[in-house]
Amino acid sequence: MCYCFGKTRMKPLDLNCTIEDISWLTPTIFQLSFKCTPEFDHLPGQFMSIIIPGAGPQGRDLRRAYSIASSPGKALTQLCIRKIDGGPGTSYLGGLKPGSQFKAQAPFGHFVYKIRPGKNVCFISTGTGISPFRSILGSKLFLENRPKNTLCLFGTTNTDEVVYDDEIKKVSDIDWVIALSRSDKSWNGFKGRVTDFLRAHDQEIEWSNTDFYLCGNGAMIDEVKQILVSKNVQKESILQEIYYKPKGDK
Ligand SMILES: Cc1cc2nc3c(=O)[nH]c(=O)nc-3n(C[C@H](O)[C@H](O)[C@H](O)COP(=O)(O)OP(=O)(O)OC[C@H]3O[C@@H](n4cnc5c(N)ncnc54)[C@H](O)[C@@H]3O)c2cc1C
Repeated sequence: MCYCFGKTRMKPLDLNCTIEDISWLTPTIFQLSFKCTPEFDHLPGQFMSIIIPGAGPQGRDLRRAYSIASSPGKALTQLCIRKIDGGPGTSYLGGLKPGSQFKAQAPFGHFVYKIRPGKNVCFISTGTGISPFRSILGSKLFLENRPKNTLCLFGTTNTDEVVYDDEIKKVSDIDWVIALSRSDKSWNGFKGRVTDFLRAHDQEIEWSNTDFYLCGNGAMIDEVKQILVSKNVQKESILQEIYYKPKGDK
């Protein structure tokens, strides 16, 4: 299958990947850095599909999708992954060591930065959902085609679970907001969930002139979309990448 972006046609390639580094960014989130052969191009926001060998029924291979957290053109590709207890994909990937090899295909997906002159952009994520936004914020595509204003809103539980703060706060001319749902008293930033932030800043957000990009937990995405619909945000201004659905949803 091919994915077409304007004149660019990016066919997913079969990749052999070799781990260079694995580092724990938080107690539950690790980052894989690796080289791919052949090298591949991607648009910021796209994902890769990783083969988890023998982890499926009757020893068949499984596949797991991961947003590419590094920007296009970097020497190493990076993924930011939450370890799920007993999860076959993250157990396999979390057990890799420098020099380990794995197989993947990339690039996939339509959750990519769209140039819309004069519009604001609001990137909203929870947990590892920050990955595609890290890729976008460091990309030429974004840096050379800035929206009018950029808000990057990231939600997690507490300061221990914050990722990429040092990097993202260095990106010029963006508002970087961390919303902590279980902050302690010493936290000076926003206390609450990303949805609480949107409601609290109702008057400042130009709802009808903003493209909203939502990534992460499906429950968060549903709740944010309810707010956006109540503000008459057009469907074409809402882009989403759902990592997993709330339990019980099909
Ligand atoms: C397009 C796409 C991109 C994705 N990108 C990323 C990414 O960049 N980083 C990442 O960590 N995951 C990402 N995921 C989720 C990933 O594909 C796997 O589902 C996840 O790593 C769990 O795999 P597993 O085999 O270890 O556990 P499984 O047995 O498949 O999952 C067990 C349960 O874990 C929960 N879960 C899944 N993902 C997460 C998560 N990220 N945080 C909290 N709970 C979760 C769900 O309730 C799921 O049912 C993405 C998913 C999609 C569809």
